[in-house]
Amino acid sequence: MYRFYMRDDGNEYHYAELCRVFLPEEDFEIISMNRLPDPEYISSSSYVLGEDRHSDRDSTKRELYTLLEELTGIKPEWGTLTGVRPLKPALDILNVTGNIDDMKSNLKNKYLLSDTKADLLAEIAEYQRSHVNGNPSDYISVYAGIPFCPTRCEYCSFASNVAGEGEIANYLNNLIKEIEFTGNLLRHNKETKQIESIYIGGGTPTTLSSNQLKELINALADAFSVNPADIEFTVEAGRPDTITDEKLLALKELGIGRISINPQSMKDRTLKLIGRDHCSEDIRNAFALADKHGFEVVNADLIAGLPEETPNDFKSSLDEIIGLGAENITVHTLSVKRGSRLHEHDPLYYRRDIERVSEMLSYAGDKLRDCGYHPYYIYRQKHQMGAFENVGYCKENTHSIYNIRIMEDKQSIIALGAGGIGKIYFPEEDRIERVANVSNYEIYSERFDEMLERKNKYFGGHNGD
Ligand code: SF4
Repeated sequence: MYRFYMRDDGNEYHYAELCRVFLPEEDFEIISMNRLPDPEYISSSSYVLGEDRHSDRDSTKRELYTLLEELTGIKPEWGTLTGVRPLKPALDILNVTGNIDDMKSNLKNKYLLSDTKADLLAEIAEYQRSHVNGNPSDYISVYAGIPFCPTRCEYCSFASNVAGEGEIANYLNNLIKEIEFTGNLLRHNKETKQIESIYIGGGTPTTLSSNQLKELINALADAFSVNPADIEFTVEAGRPDTITDEKLLALKELGIGRISINPQSMKDRTLKLIGRDHCSEDIRNAFALADKHGFEVVNADLIAGLPEETPNDFKSSLDEIIGLGAENITVHTLSVKRGSRLHEHDPLYYRRDIERVSEMLSYAGDKLRDCGYHPYYIYRQKHQMGAFENVGYCKENTHSIYNIRIMEDKQSIIALGAGGIGKIYFPEEDRIERVANVSNYEIYSERFDEMLERKNKYFGGHNGD
C-alpha cells in the first residue's frame, strides 16, 4: 500500500484520479499532511508531496505523476490529464495563445502529454475550428433515451435492459408524455432558441418496432417544432440484430439522415464472448440495408481491447468497416466499469495488455487518416485500458454536431427518458447545471411525475440565459 501525504488543498479527488491511472484503488491512500506521523513511523512506501505552499494543483499533479512513474514504471500518454473531456483544457489554452503550436507545447509542459496525444488534440481542435460554425449557446439539442437492448454486453455498465414488449410499450408511452410536456414548456416559455440536433440513443433504439419509432420521432418533431430532414437527427440503431428493412424505411421516410450501426468487432468469436446475439454477417446485412436506403451518414463503433482479440483481429474489423463505407467510425478503448459483468469476473482486466491496445489505437489512427477520415471529437472514461480514449473519426464534413456539443459543455441539452442527463448552460457564468432523470426505466415510470417536475423547474421558467 502506497501512502501519499499531501496538503489539504481541496484537490484530493484529482490526485486520487491520477493515482488510479497507475494503481488499483486498494493499493494507495491519499492522506492529509496534517496526519503525517513522526519520522520514525513513516514506512518506506510513504511519500510526501506538494510541500511547497505555492505549488498549485497542476504542479502537484506533475510531482505526483513523476513519482508514480518511478514507482510503477508506467508512463501514461495523457500525462496528468484526467477527466472526460481532454479537449477542453486544450481549447482553453488555444483561446489564450491563439496558436496551435503554442497550445501543443503548453499541453506538454503543463500536463506532461505525450507528443502523440498533444498532436491528436491539435488535430481535433483544428478540425472543429475549421468545420463548426455558430455560437453553440444560440441553440438547444435534444436527447431521447431508449434503455433496452436485445441482450446485455459483458462490458455494459449503462442502464440497459432486456425487457418484454409490454414494458417497452409502457416506457414509450411515458417517454412520449415527457417529450410533449417539455415541448409545451418551451412553447409556453416562448423559447426562441432553435433546435440544433436531436439524438435518439440508448440502449438500442431499434429495439422499438417501426411503428413505435415513427411514434417517437413524430412526437419529437411535433414537440420541438422541427422537420427531422432539416436538422441533424440521429438514431443510434446500434445492434445489427435489431435493424430491419422496415425500420430503416420508416426512419428514411421520416427524414432521418444519420444512423449508427455498432459492430464493436467483426469477429464472430468476440461477438459471442461479449454477449452479443448476432454474428458478423448480421452486421454486413445491416450495412447493406443502410446502403439501400441511402442514409447520409452511418456511424460505426469499434472497441479496442475486447477479450481475446489480437491487434490483427482489431485491424481486420476496422479494415472491413472502412470497406463497408461507414462515414463516421468511433474507435473506443474498452472501459471496464463497475456494474459490468466483465468487471465482476475480472476487475483488473483493464490494467493488462496495454501494449496490445496501444497498437490497435495507433493502427486505427494511421489507417483512418490514410483513408480520408479526420479525428473530430474525443472523450475519456473511467477504467479505460491504458487510460486511453475514445475518438470519433469522420469523413470530411460528415461530423456529428451533437457529439461535438455534448463534449463542449456550452449548450443546453434537453435529455428525455430513463438515464437521460441533460444540461442547462449559463453563458454569462460559462457554467453547466446537470438535469438528470433516474436511470432505471422502472423507477422512471414509478417516479414519472417527479421527472416532469424537474423539467418544469429547469425549463419552465428560464433556459440558461
Ligand atoms: S449495446 Fe450498449 S447499451 Fe446495449 S447492452 Fe451493449 S453496451 Fe449496453
